Amino acid sequence: MGSSHKYETVIGLEVHVELKTKTKIFCSCPTEFGGEENTHVCPVCLGLPGVLPVLNKRVLEFAVRAGLALNCEVAGFSKFDRKNYFYPDLPKAYQVSQYDLPICKGGRLEIEAEGKKKTIGITRIHMEEDAGKLLHSGTTIASSDYSLADYNRTGVPLIEIVSEPDMRSSQEARAYLEKLKIILEYIDVSDVKMEQGSLRCDANISLRPIGVEEFGTRAEIKNMNSFKALQKAVEYEVERQAEILNEGGSIVQETRSWDEEKGVTVSMRSKEEAHDYRYFPEPDLVPIVVEPAWVEELRNSLPELPDERKGRLVNVLDLSEYDAGIITGSRALAEYFDRVVACYEEPKTAANWLNGEFLRLLNAQGLEVTESKIDPEDFAALLRYIADGKISGKIAKEVFAQMFAEGEKPGEIIKRKGLMQISDEGALSAVVEKIVAGNPKSVEDYKAGKEKAIGFLVGQVMKETKGQANPGLVNKLLQERLDSL
Ligand SMILES: [Zn+2]
Repeated sequence: MGSSHKYETVIGLEVHVELKTKTKIFCSCPTEFGGEENTHVCPVCLGLPGVLPVLNKRVLEFAVRAGLALNCEVAGFSKFDRKNYFYPDLPKAYQVSQYDLPICKGGRLEIEAEGKKKTIGITRIHMEEDAGKLLHSGTTIASSDYSLADYNRTGVPLIEIVSEPDMRSSQEARAYLEKLKIILEYIDVSDVKMEQGSLRCDANISLRPIGVEEFGTRAEIKNMNSFKALQKAVEYEVERQAEILNEGGSIVQETRSWDEEKGVTVSMRSKEEAHDYRYFPEPDLVPIVVEPAWVEELRNSLPELPDERKGRLVNVLDLSEYDAGIITGSRALAEYFDRVVACYEEPKTAANWLNGEFLRLLNAQGLEVTESKIDPEDFAALLRYIADGKISGKIAKEVFAQMFAEGEKPGEIIKRKGLMQISDEGALSAVVEKIVAGNPKSVEDYKAGKEKAIGFLVGQVMKETKGQANPGLVNKLLQERLDSL
């Protein structure tokens, strides 16, 4: 039992999302990930004297789309500010961000954790530019003989989504980040790849005695590169703070880093306050005025979002919450499912195959849905072969694996391999006759009242026909033959 149980955990998340625009936020350099160091740069993103930034309209559009999808209010008037600090990955020694007038405010997100639904408030969304990357000769900047700076990422557009301190457990924090990721994927504004840094999360964590309203002193945790890391880091930090409080100590307001290998958070620096950054309005950019008509246009262009989509699958197509949850957990999978059921009228069967064989094969090979070789129409065709009794479920799995491997059509595989189910009474009667003649002991057992013996005989007929016999018909024919003896 942990020592944290007399405290309530309070968590707020700050999520940085790299937007997938083609060019940077204030210049026309490409945003592409990777590339030779310092090749995606120009005087604007390097902050050379005499240049002027110009806002990429797509960045504003993506930020507004994210705000609408997260139920925010979009500001008709907002502006950029300079956030001043020195670090070698920031060539201008200030980051262009938004301070007191962000583009979006006051949203919310529905999550489900440990079987409970909950609404998490979204404080704000603001636009900003990313910094560059440092490559240290050692493990940290302080312990290195030298560090190299790569400015390809400098000026890549980001939105920062700040939540209210509404989460109360590591599970809720994880559920929030997962839900946020899915929504951003649905609205197509980011690659949301945590491992490539296009989705980055910081957590503000504090404890307060149960029943007390006032927040405790918080620590900010950085450097969590996966959902699992977020969950583990929160759990560690809660225990660490509880121990200090239990011993009568007090929490230091600071920024800490999650050390994945050791499974601990370590102190990085004392936490900055906003006034440390000496924010002031960015004089080189005009304020942003957003027309309500344009916002409405963007609102109308939003796709069906995960919760709506899940609701449709449950209420209209009669899927279980569980199946609908898996399918709508990825936009690509949800769209694939829609294409299958457009050609096949039994959504439940389609969902079973999609969440069963299809995901199993994708996971086994580490593939994305979009990399699958099976055309959704062929997927549907296979299901129809089963429904029409032309192939058995067992044979269908074999055909499916072949479709998955080669992208071949199910009809071609069935024909080429001669897998069509045998439903011809005459042909099957002959096999039944052969099996009955060859297994006198089982026949005797059956006649003596051991009804289970028929199962063995059915198995023998299936074996003889390499699994192609129609099992229902085999049963019927065997029963008739045995009863006639
Ligand atoms: Zn540039």
